[in-house]
Amino acid sequence: MRFDEGAGLDTSEVEDLRGGGGGIGGRVALGGGGLGVVGLVIYFLISQFGGVSLNPSSGSLGGVGTGQQMDNTSLAQECKTGADANRNHDCAIVGFINSIQDYWGQEFQRSGSTYRKAVTNFFNGGVNTACGSATSDVGPFYCPGDSEVYIDLNFFNELRSRFGAQGGPFAEAYVLAHEYGHHVQNLTGVSKKGTGSGPTSGSVRLELQADCYAGVWANHATTTPTESGRPLITDVTQADIDSALDTASRIGDDYIQSKLGGGRVDESKFSHGTSAQRKKWFTTGFETGEPARCDTFAARSLG
Ligand SMILES: [Zn+2]
Repeated sequence: MRFDEGAGLDTSEVEDLRGGGGGIGGRVALGGGGLGVVGLVIYFLISQFGGVSLNPSSGSLGGVGTGQQMDNTSLAQECKTGADANRNHDCAIVGFINSIQDYWGQEFQRSGSTYRKAVTNFFNGGVNTACGSATSDVGPFYCPGDSEVYIDLNFFNELRSRFGAQGGPFAEAYVLAHEYGHHVQNLTGVSKKGTGSGPTSGSVRLELQADCYAGVWANHATTTPTESGRPLITDVTQADIDSALDTASRIGDDYIQSKLGGGRVDESKFSHGTSAQRKKWFTTGFETGEPARCDTFAARSLG
């Protein structure tokens, strides 16, 4: 996939909490002095890849907490156009977020409602949110409490090294589009149905719907105009789609439990759906391009 070299990027859809240059901020000291390895693995398995309830803190932090300072200076300097997105990883992430939100903005408008943009926070190590504090081990996530996405971009390295995913730009776009799928669910009010665990639970249905919404965006990625009137992404190849499907298959509950969680598959703990289901729902969204086809709550079979 490629970005249109001349298209503009909007870095205001991202908040950089990484504290570049070793200054103050970015890293947050989280309480507890670190979970043990087992704790990390379990926490990771339970909450990996969004849609999670983190340690709810007493009351809402409602934004940036102690030690986190937003500084978009370098992003704003480096990420101005699609050409920047083609050569700089951070800028590519900004480009994906812009494209995803442009699509949903236009889709909501077509259906007579209003999309509210959600910021994605880049963080290193740990972060405070309205949903509580989190370390990078939880993976990227969406917090309904503050309607923001949180990601430690090192997750993408982990996808390759730990999950064995092939990675690539569009695999990363899929992850972001999945998280924005959760934002759409928050706006439509379906988020609250995402409860419980197990193969037909609300949680699994919510996650598979977010995968489907990611596919819907992928369908429209090259035809969604930005403010300039031209699409930000100029082409998406079959190899791009394959890389997204490869990632989907590496973060299925059955794959994670069997490959990373000790070998036993326990369906009662499913929260995101199997690898096959995640691929199936992304594909449904991608092939149809219609959000209405993503009604996993009405689906008799999840695949
Ligand atoms: Zn999710």
